[in-house]
Amino acid sequence: MFDFMDMDYDEPGESIGSGPYIPGASECLRCGMCVSSCPTFRLFQIDEETPRRRIRTLSKLLVENLQVSADELRHLDNCLQCRACETICPSQMAYGQLFDQAQAQLKARPGWLAKSAFKLIENKRWRTRLMPLLSVYLKSGLQKPIRRSGLLKKLHLADAEALLDKPVLQALAACYPANGTLRGQVALFTGCIAEHFDRETLQAAIKLLNAIGYEVLIPPQQGCCGAIHQHNGQSAAALIANNISVFNALDVDAVLHTATGCGAMLSEYQSHDDLAAQLFRQRLYDINDFLLEHWPDQLQLTPSTLKVAVHEPCSQRNILKNQAAVYALLEKIPGLSVAALADNHICCGAGGSYMLTHPDNAAQLRVLKQHIIADSSADVVVSGNFGCAVFLSADQSKIEHPLQLLARHLAD
Ligand code: SF4
Ligand code: SF4
Repeated sequence: MFDFMDMDYDEPGESIGSGPYIPGASECLRCGMCVSSCPTFRLFQIDEETPRRRIRTLSKLLVENLQVSADELRHLDNCLQCRACETICPSQMAYGQLFDQAQAQLKARPGWLAKSAFKLIENKRWRTRLMPLLSVYLKSGLQKPIRRSGLLKKLHLADAEALLDKPVLQALAACYPANGTLRGQVALFTGCIAEHFDRETLQAAIKLLNAIGYEVLIPPQQGCCGAIHQHNGQSAAALIANNISVFNALDVDAVLHTATGCGAMLSEYQSHDDLAAQLFRQRLYDINDFLLEHWPDQLQLTPSTLKVAVHEPCSQRNILKNQAAVYALLEKIPGLSVAALADNHICCGAGGSYMLTHPDNAAQLRVLKQHIIADSSADVVVSGNFGCAVFLSADQSKIEHPLQLLARHLAD
């Protein structure tokens, strides 16, 4: 067993330039409270795979300007950026910010595959052209022989391909009018790939918002939230600036997001134009919070006797911290039995792009979560983050967004 206090720490560091405050290494109390929540410690059971040790590496990189070994970098790179350590830390170490700053400083040069993925999520025209080809590939019967040929493995595309579902090709409309009396207008953040791969959630969101009297606008100029870029050491500035300008130009009551992974990134948007970023954040809501706050007393849902287990994505638990809204909304379905999945504080392994960059670690964490799902004996499992739902659904029954369940219980 390793000793939580057996570590060597230096004197306080300093904040860097005019950026966010960076705690010095000495502000880590070495208390070890973060250790048991860390998914990589759960997997490897060694001190090097704890948040505390990673904070030491971050301090060396960002504050002390010390040499960092290849091993230290490897352990740092194993981090899923789930931020469970941040939530529990009594010193409130800003782990997420520190990690992103270190990634930017290390300036990892992406290979051809990562570069293409970044381009694809940045560029709507590329995505629109690729989707019909993908759809033909998935329908053509070519999938099995190509998988068997080993080509996907050679191109490092096997893990991504295994998660693919048939994309929806038709674009969403720019406006969905409210049912009955108009209470207001909201804008929906759809990001990059949700329109093609998570259409059911977006349609459920629109149906619910229309049912409570809100017109829904979907500006086609919006784009990726930038999370994948930022967490992988690439600049997300252009994506952030675009979304801020697109949504700030709309005269709406709120800007809503449905995927907690994107929502977490949007909720922390910073820009060279502070006022614009502030305005954007002020009108930003997680859709669960908005629906709960604006739910009309007279709107009743149809009953159900299903048993539902709620998976709480790390982006919701550790950044948005609004998981209670999901339970409160599901309680509006009369008769539904709702419970949290056990060990919700441990990441499922998806971790944004982690499931593709660290497939072995991610798969081991998924197996742990899948056992928990099986033990829950739930009829339905819901998750507010598309990435987690897709990753956990592999080889298992489908995991859906809570909005899909709610929308099915709207009376016709
Ligand atoms: S962000 Fe998650 S994986 Fe990374 S050190 Fe913290 S708890 Fe561990
Ligand atoms: S919980 Fe915070 S203060 Fe305690 S060891 Fe972890 S990072 Fe350091």
